[in-house]
Parts: sequence; C-alpha cells; structure tokens
Amino acid sequence: MPHVRIPSFKDEQGIEHVVLNPKIPVVLYVCLGCWNILDDVRAYCRRCGRSGTCFEPAGQPRTACFTHPAKPAANFCNECSRAFCADCLQETASFFTMGTYSYRCHLCIADMKQLEAAHAARDTAYCLRHPDQLTQHTCRNCGERLCRFCAYHPVGGILTKRVEPETFCFSCVRQLVGKRKVRHTVIEHFAHGNFQQFTF
Ligand SMILES: [Zn+2]
Ligand SMILES: [Zn+2]
Ligand SMILES: [Zn+2]
Ligand SMILES: [Zn+2]
Ligand SMILES: [Zn+2]
Repeated sequence: MPHVRIPSFKDEQGIEHVVLNPKIPVVLYVCLGCWNILDDVRAYCRRCGRSGTCFEPAGQPRTACFTHPAKPAANFCNECSRAFCADCLQETASFFTMGTYSYRCHLCIADMKQLEAAHAARDTAYCLRHPDQLTQHTCRNCGERLCRFCAYHPVGGILTKRVEPETFCFSCVRQLVGKRKVRHTVIEHFAHGNFQQFTF
C-alpha cells in the first residue's frame, strides 16, 4: 500500500474508526460502500464485496491459468491480478476507461457474491460502516440508520459553533455541502463539546 492517510481516530476503547470528510469525496484505499480499509491483495472490499479499484497487471509474466495449470493464461483478473485461462474469466466493460475491458476470475466472482450476501444478511442494529457500533441516528433525507461516527450534523452560526439537531448520512450531507446548503458539518461523536477536531 502506498502512503495514504486514511482519516480516522481512536475511541474510548482505543478502537480505530474511519471518519470521512464530506468535502473530499474519494479517499484512496477506503471502500465507499462500507468504509472498510482496502488492501493490495484484492481490488474489492473484503467486508461488503463491492469492487473498488482495478489492478493494473502490467509487467507480470503471462503464464499458465491459476486454476488449470495445463492451460495457457489468456488474461489477468483485475480484482486479484492472477492469470487465468479464458474459461475462468468474465469480461466486463470498464467504467474507468472507455473502450477497454476488465476481467474478473471465477474465484473473485464467487468470493464477492458470498461477501455481498453475508453483508446483506448482517444485523442492521449495527452500523454499516462501523460494525461494532449500534445505530442510534437516522438520516433526515434518506432514512438510513447511522451510528455516532457517521451521523453528520450541520454546523452554523458566525463562529461555526451552532450544531443543528438533525443528522444526515455521508452521501446526503455531501450533496448538501456541494449545493452550498450546508457549509460545515460535525459527526455526532464530536458534536457535544470538543468538536473542532471533526468539524469539516
Ligand atoms: Zn465495503
Ligand atoms: Zn480474481
Ligand atoms: Zn482456467
Ligand atoms: Zn442520507
Ligand atoms: Zn457508523
């Protein structure tokens, strides 16, 4: 992993929590679905199965299929960068670069499906982004359930000290910030008292 600063802080128990700034929409190495920190081994999130980035397999020798050592490799899987034969790959048009294709191997497809299903069946009393936290707040816009680390309050007043009572999720607050309907926000955990640290 290159040196990327992922915005996070430690709670009372010393547990690290990712907190995103709604003014910075894309943070490298963070799943935008569940805020899990991604690794260099798979391009999809190992918590929710969502495909994040796309691996560039440039420079790797193209040899035999990972699953069928007797068959020559046709291409690389863009999710795991291993080489596979044509039977093991599914070709998809890429969102990132028009006209080029990305490949997914049968192993990654199965793994992503399983992760997605497990994630969909999770206990929704707990936060989607902070799985050890109970949800206690609701987005006023879309109704999504939020925990104290991902519920955003608008902050107003001349000195940016008036915390509004309603809460919004990350994507809704990002839209409000984009439309300049909200200038500053603070997450619920820091909303009472020492909130300068996570005022965005
Ligand atoms: Zn995820
Ligand atoms: Zn793969
Ligand atoms: Zn194969
Ligand atoms: Zn929302
Ligand atoms: Zn949360």
